[in-house]
Amino acid sequence: MASSVQGIDLPEKRLLEILEIANDWALSNGIIIKDSPGSAKAVCAPYSLFPSLVPAPILAQAKSSMTEFSRLMHKVANDHAFLADSLKNVIEVDPFIKGIWRIYQKVREAGIKQPLMLGVFRNDFMMNFKDKSISNGVVKPDQLELKQIEFNSIASSFGGLTQQIGNLHKLTLGLCGKKYSDKEMPENKPASGIAKGLLRGWELYNNPQAVIIFLVSDNERNVFDQRWIEFRIYDQNPNVRVLRRTFLDFHHRGSLDSENKLFIDEEEVAVVYMRDGYTADQYPSEKEWNGRLTIELSSAIKCPCVQYQLMGSKKVQQELAKPGAVEKFVASKNSADMLRATFAGLYSLDLGPEGDEAVEMAVNSPEKFVMKPQREGGGNNLYNTEIAKFMSEHKNSKERNAYILMERIFPWQQQNYLVKSGVPFVLSDVVSEIGVYGVYIGSDQNEVENFECGHMMRTKMSGTDEGGVVAGFAVLDTPLIY
Ligand code: ADP
Ligand code: MG
Ligand code: MG
Repeated sequence: MASSVQGIDLPEKRLLEILEIANDWALSNGIIIKDSPGSAKAVCAPYSLFPSLVPAPILAQAKSSMTEFSRLMHKVANDHAFLADSLKNVIEVDPFIKGIWRIYQKVREAGIKQPLMLGVFRNDFMMNFKDKSISNGVVKPDQLELKQIEFNSIASSFGGLTQQIGNLHKLTLGLCGKKYSDKEMPENKPASGIAKGLLRGWELYNNPQAVIIFLVSDNERNVFDQRWIEFRIYDQNPNVRVLRRTFLDFHHRGSLDSENKLFIDEEEVAVVYMRDGYTADQYPSEKEWNGRLTIELSSAIKCPCVQYQLMGSKKVQQELAKPGAVEKFVASKNSADMLRATFAGLYSLDLGPEGDEAVEMAVNSPEKFVMKPQREGGGNNLYNTEIAKFMSEHKNSKERNAYILMERIFPWQQQNYLVKSGVPFVLSDVVSEIGVYGVYIGSDQNEVENFECGHMMRTKMSGTDEGGVVAGFAVLDTPLIY
């Protein structure tokens, strides 16, 4: 077993030595995850042994478009008519989105109690291979194009663990005798940036006694990713208290005072950072929904508020790809073109003539598309025969409205070693997804903060349809820039 990843050529014996060192380094430096939901035991988070290549212009494009993307999405979230129109057909058939929509309606009826909206976003991309006939080896940057996969507006994860993974890769490269410059492995500190954003929200709330809530699930495996962000908060201000609470806690012990201030266990809440609440199974009963509602009706700063969650749906992404939609929100044509350049083909599947055309395309060549429901966290999309099967069962039914159709991206394939339980430790064909973090704070009138704060990369075995590290498909990686 000889490695040829990044020009590294090592005998198997040395490679296994480096693997052992890397594993213990990962454990020693908090690249960890709970081994199962609710467990007390932590294990290494899945990672790649070496960084994977990304051309400098590709990463630069992803990062430099972030503030413009965040601004666009903030404006979308503040446009009630656009949200309502985009989501009206989904709400009819998707009980989860309907539940989120109902919360939004109640917030609107009660009147917005907190004008500031706080977003910790992650914009995800893949490097599409323009010429599908050659998809191996190191390629020239202009053979690749950056294509957006999705914009995450709730519980965007891995900013914490990612901050350590670059250092792990610097170690493994070094142990292989491979030199790298700061340009190739740049400093990358998303957890610090996210912490700065949460702290900025806390300052703007303007009560030094009030706490920051990390709204979490008891079943969370990715606890340490969240803790890393919390620790970066203490680095910047050790006087701020962070409490971890659940929706059930807010149902049982949360309350609003006469000014709509949010309290939990007698503590006033400045900021609620949600790392839960983005899928249906996270609301097993009315109690969790009620906990969410209590938070949303308050004057605490929500990260995200319910409008932000709706804005991050795949349906809104698809509606924004329609001619003229982005242009409605973005001031200059240049900006609109810059954002649009990363859009893949996106099609409504809604019952009706336009949707029928998309259904036809999907049925004729399912391998060229991905069907996406309004879900987060990986493992929910339909591919290939699943698309064909769905269409044969629901072709003329409203169930179609719950999904969108997206052009399938065929990312550049490289080689790397994935370190993940249940996966053989061999040089594998892999593909990567790049994420860029951004923090946004603003009201419908003003932009208060808008900054890009780092990147991440997830890599999976080529031929695996889905993504997601916790969902079990991908591993954490770092871009090695060339
Ligand atoms: P989620 O919110 O569940 O993460 P995504 O839209 O990111 O939903 O889809 C999950 C995964 O499916 C992605 O991480 C990616 O690996 C794969 N995927 C999504 N869209 C495409 C696409 N257009 N082409 C190829 N793969 C895709
Ligand atoms: Mg997502
Ligand atoms: Mg995703």
